[in-house]
Amino acid sequence: MKINKIEPQGYCKGVIRALKLCDDAIKNEKTPRPIYLLGSIIHNSFVVEDLKNKGVILLENPKKSKIELLNEINDGTVIFSAHGVSPEIYLEAKEKGLNIIDATCGYVLMVHNKIKEHLDNGYTCIYIGTKNHPEALGVLGISSSIIFINNIDDIDKLNIDNEKIYATNQTTLSKYDLNDIFVKLKNKYPNIIIDDKICNATTIRQEAMINQEDVDLCIVVGDPNSSNTKKLYKVSKEIRGIDTILCEDLKSLDKSKLKGINSISISSGASTPSYIVDEIIEYLKTI
Ligand code: SF4
Repeated sequence: MKINKIEPQGYCKGVIRALKLCDDAIKNEKTPRPIYLLGSIIHNSFVVEDLKNKGVILLENPKKSKIELLNEINDGTVIFSAHGVSPEIYLEAKEKGLNIIDATCGYVLMVHNKIKEHLDNGYTCIYIGTKNHPEALGVLGISSSIIFINNIDDIDKLNIDNEKIYATNQTTLSKYDLNDIFVKLKNKYPNIIIDDKICNATTIRQEAMINQEDVDLCIVVGDPNSSNTKKLYKVSKEIRGIDTILCEDLKSLDKSKLKGINSISISSGASTPSYIVDEIIEYLKTI
């Protein structure tokens, strides 16, 4: 079987930094204990499980907001995930006197800062993102006046009475979907400032999916909750038109899909550990 490992692979800079901050905190005896993670540090269950085994306590509950989870703790260290948090969370942690370790990715911080700057200058801000994604929740927590767009049809409902409009986005969206949304926004509001904030890691991985050779099947490896992983799957399947499957690891790989396949490509999200991809490739070599 021909196997094409699509580059780049491995962690992006934001994930490397977030994991190093966790690692340093765990190793440093002076870090106030307990150490809490406010939500998954990155979207990869294997990585989070590893941190839990090292003594970190994960604060996560789909029925509770981050502020509710934060209110359940009173001492120690709290680590904010790479997806960022709203200003309210930051202030609350500070007021509680917690030791804060902020692992927010620089690309996400840039979006926060740009939105704050434009709000201060009288702009109506539009944010394009995924509903309930932690990165989107963190940004929307900056101000209730931010208009949230989840898909292109939401633009039809907009009725903005302000000449000054600024639009930006979640860092891990599909650049192809986003482009269509920006074009439609520009047609509706010709003066709008469009500020594409898809991060570099997401951009180059999606471009690699488009430029990949023709294969019988493409495997995207990553956590089902990882936004950038899901978008790689979407780009390969819907834009590139290649039969594509998503799997978390070798165990969850649907082996029935490999029957009669002569060529395979393999990509992975920016939060997928390399050893998981390598294990799948080793398995494919045995077929
Ligand atoms: S995928 Fe992009 S935004 Fe997310 S952590 Fe990596 S570099 Fe940062």
